[in-house]
Amino acid sequence: MSKAQAFFNRALKGGEVAPRARAVGPGVGSMVSSRPRRGRLAAPLLLGTFLLATTAALSFPFAFAAQEATDEGDSGICEEDGVSAHDAYDLGETLIRDVMRNANATNEYLDVLADISDSDFHLERTFLSPGSLRALASVRRWMEDAGLRTWLDSVGNLHGRLEQEGEYRDDARVLLLGSHIDTVVDGGAYDGTLGIVSAITAVKNLKLRLDSDASLGLRRPVEVIAFSDEEGLRFKSTFLGSRAVSGTFLKNGYLQATDSKGYTLASVLETVGLSNSEEDIAKIAMRREDLYGYVEVHIEQGPVLQSLNQPVGVVSAISGQTRMYVQVDGFSGHAGTVPMDQRRDTIAASAEMITRIEDKCNEFPLSRENMLVCTVGEFNVFPGASNVIPGYANFSVDIRCKDDAMRGEVVSLVKRELLQISKRRKVECEIQMKHSAESCQSSPTFTESLRRGILGAHELVGRYEEAREKSRKTGPPDPDPDPGGQGEGESLLWDMNEATVPVIASGAGHDALAMSEVTPIGMLFVRCRDGISHSPLEHVEPRDVTVASLSLYQFLVSEALLAA
Ligand SMILES: [Zn+2]
Repeated sequence: MSKAQAFFNRALKGGEVAPRARAVGPGVGSMVSSRPRRGRLAAPLLLGTFLLATTAALSFPFAFAAQEATDEGDSGICEEDGVSAHDAYDLGETLIRDVMRNANATNEYLDVLADISDSDFHLERTFLSPGSLRALASVRRWMEDAGLRTWLDSVGNLHGRLEQEGEYRDDARVLLLGSHIDTVVDGGAYDGTLGIVSAITAVKNLKLRLDSDASLGLRRPVEVIAFSDEEGLRFKSTFLGSRAVSGTFLKNGYLQATDSKGYTLASVLETVGLSNSEEDIAKIAMRREDLYGYVEVHIEQGPVLQSLNQPVGVVSAISGQTRMYVQVDGFSGHAGTVPMDQRRDTIAASAEMITRIEDKCNEFPLSRENMLVCTVGEFNVFPGASNVIPGYANFSVDIRCKDDAMRGEVVSLVKRELLQISKRRKVECEIQMKHSAESCQSSPTFTESLRRGILGAHELVGRYEEAREKSRKTGPPDPDPDPGGQGEGESLLWDMNEATVPVIASGAGHDALAMSEVTPIGMLFVRCRDGISHSPLEHVEPRDVTVASLSLYQFLVSEALLAA
């Protein structure tokens, strides 16, 4: 048996080798690439920036009941709970157009990052690879353009903080936003990057709002982090960046981890000019008492929002996970000579076990609500010949659920069922527990604030579309008719009301999971086409990108602004 088991012990499939890099300075542009680009947008970034700078001075024929953004004593301000996310009606026409333009620029940023790769043929950025460093240089420019103070920490996370002079109006605990800059091999253009750049444009809009009204102040500092590693491709350890910030990097011994070329993580840090001293890395860790929370925007990587026909949704929890390996031991024999009633066929037994797992998962009460999913993703058989009854098989079982108690019940049930089947079929069955992680519940405060943020974005878009419509009817022609970028004559508005804001669970782990060890978390999911991710086919509609940025902006309005 040990021989057979050894046969199945699959070597880790590596493959990616990020070249040994020298630090790349800021300002390095994107490389020429034969890869397909993301969908193009309505207006080039430079034009958008130019218009942003000039629209404030121009009076476009925007047919609002014109109320410029000097909302003194307006009803949208609530001193106890910050500024209402429903402040669209408090904004003047110019400000709304500028907010839309900034939100739409998220798409331009995604385009730039989609072209920065370590490969000429596909998108690939691993931990501190040359491509990652070039991408971070671009992100740094955008952060600074948004008014953030930036710095790179010693594991390569890029931070950008919005601060104000003097006392914060609530407390000095920081509200963190962010996601990861690294990708998988041949990855998509949105996984990770969307969370970084939508946070930058949302904070840029927050600053715009702040500057538009002297009575407003920051409740607390807001910081965007582009984490250097989440996918774990290079060192086979996920969440390297966010684990440094949440303070669990050193205790996991990552400095000694080696990549496929044999370089240690410590030597890679040194090569790119970062400090690999434990003392400096320990300083990256943020203290619980200094943090207000962490909120991440991420593509859903699943089909739920698409099936609900909604661009964005709030994540209520990141599912817990159990991973098991099942070994089924029977007896090999001649396919022609052993009668059916005398066989100990491990494939037939495994097939029954696997369909039973699927049936139980489907039948389980409230399984849909709790995002209970069971997957057998790996199956091996020995000896694997058409004329031999298979004597050995093994397979993986991955069970995820937002509710840990339910997951525990399902795991027990599956174990019981598999043992019953093995007994009846006269095969031996051994179940090994490989991994178990509890679910991570989002902060109810953030869940509600993000829900209100989506509603606020919907209201803001409604106000914007209303103004465009009036402008179209009453003229004169608008020189910048499409600041939201959805295409002239097309509406950015979507069908939604208070009761239909999606609140869903995440079956995948994210940086938020690592950050939950040190602070409350919240997440906003963005619809992606057919749920496809970790693939060049990954796609998010530009309008959904804009809506994500607006929703996060409206979340920030309520969580990070306060009127005097
Ligand atoms: Zn991701």
